[in-house]
Amino acid sequence: MTTFADLGLSQPVLQALDMKGYTVPTPIQEQAIPAVLKGRDLLGIAQTGTGKTAAFMLPSIDRLREADKQIPFKSCRMLVLAPTRELAVQIADSAKDYGALAGLKVQCIVGGTSVGKDRNKLHRGTDILVATPGRLLDLIDQKALNLNGIEVLVLDEADQMLDLGFIHALRKIKELAPKERQTLFFSATMPKAIKELVSGFCNNPVQVSVTPQSTTAERIDQYLFMVQQDEKLSLLEMVLKGRHAVPGTVERVLIFTRTKHGADRVVKRLAQGGIESNAIHGNKSQPQRQRALDDFRKGRVPVLIATDVAARGIDIPGVSHVINYELPNVPEQYVHRIGRTARAGKGGIAIAFCAEDERAYLKDIRKVTGAELERLPLPDNFRAVVEGEGPTKPAARVPMKRVNPRPLGQRPQGQRPQGDRKPQGERRADGDRRPQGERRPEGDRRPQGDRKPQQANGSGGQGRPGGGGGRPSGGGNGGGGRGRGRPGGSGGGRPRSASV
Ligand code: AMP
Repeated sequence: MTTFADLGLSQPVLQALDMKGYTVPTPIQEQAIPAVLKGRDLLGIAQTGTGKTAAFMLPSIDRLREADKQIPFKSCRMLVLAPTRELAVQIADSAKDYGALAGLKVQCIVGGTSVGKDRNKLHRGTDILVATPGRLLDLIDQKALNLNGIEVLVLDEADQMLDLGFIHALRKIKELAPKERQTLFFSATMPKAIKELVSGFCNNPVQVSVTPQSTTAERIDQYLFMVQQDEKLSLLEMVLKGRHAVPGTVERVLIFTRTKHGADRVVKRLAQGGIESNAIHGNKSQPQRQRALDDFRKGRVPVLIATDVAARGIDIPGVSHVINYELPNVPEQYVHRIGRTARAGKGGIAIAFCAEDERAYLKDIRKVTGAELERLPLPDNFRAVVEGEGPTKPAARVPMKRVNPRPLGQRPQGQRPQGDRKPQGERRADGDRRPQGERRPEGDRRPQGDRKPQQANGSGGQGRPGGGGGRPSGGGNGGGGRGRGRPGGSGGGRPRSASV
């Protein structure tokens, strides 16, 4: 069995790992550490939970120690870019732990905090700087920071940075960083835009991949409704209320829309039908998003509607169904989405609502995942139901098997949906109001409460090191024996009745 010492790490780093209680390198660490120690550029295709932070941080700490350069004035030797505030803080904490005995200075700058304090932090420079791109550029604009001293540049969760609109920031950072540098590039997915970014940033990178995209998809029973756009709301309502049975017991449902507007529309319509739900998306404040997630996690509100960006990193055990209410136009997003129902190595159920104009997306999804989505029948007389009942027909109260004491969708009288409530005195954390209409990238807007990359994943989750065998792998098919393509999981061929 390979040990950290076999990988060529120094004594202080090995000691720090000992203190952390890591005994065996994870697959990405095993593959990446020797290459990074040699100074090679790296392209890591890996999700959070695989041990990727240590994979880039441990060898970089050793390389920084070895090079033994002065800390540059108002600059840093290693820059780690992360999409969200939570991830940045988490990486900085890891860097401090891993580098505890290496004597390296670590700083973290993220949006939503005082810029003045960041300016002070950077005045004397630092060895390792972890930052979100927006705040980093703010400080460069203010001449509080320059990138001249960079020896190692890390882009973590590059695909999410693109999703959050950081592409221009990344290009600018690339222009400002010295050409002579090592670049370590991580992304969970590899769409075309990321490939282009990699070729701009990296020089002949060593490629390591620990979660082939198909593996998550393989553990999930995937179904499909072919349904017209204007029928989707009715179908959703019927599924959630158990009026139209789908495979599995509908207990906690994460619903994806492509747009914020779409998410709000679903919340509104479900509320009209007596089903309580919350939405999380970029227009919601951080406290609203956090509250919606907490409500969902605790089972108080069993339906959560999310856009892709808002849902990245969500780690909620017990999601019984992921419903792709609108198919994503990027097929890799589909894999991310349905992965929310297969946490901790378990299987799950995903149902796509595909309208005629989404067929092309469906084709792409099939191509990327290799999965055949089993088509489910629409309810009998569905069109008549859609036209006859209309959206406002009062909902029958159908009891739901769930942790929540209240039936699905009913909230105490007079209470507005939580996600829509604006807490008193709430204000932007960064106090840095932008001109109207200008949208701040999320990573710098507020702390993203929805990122819980590590904790709640239980042990041995997909790619999670440390738990159980401690070997993150794309495989990890704890679910075993799931009747693929068979309604009702391990049950018979007929969909189990969904009790909602
Ligand atoms: P990451 O993918 O970097 O977010 O790491 C996921 C979690 O795994 C973090 O809590 C790390 O502290 C932990 N971890 C990383 N490497 C190892 C290892 N070799 N053994 C045990 N735990 C690890």
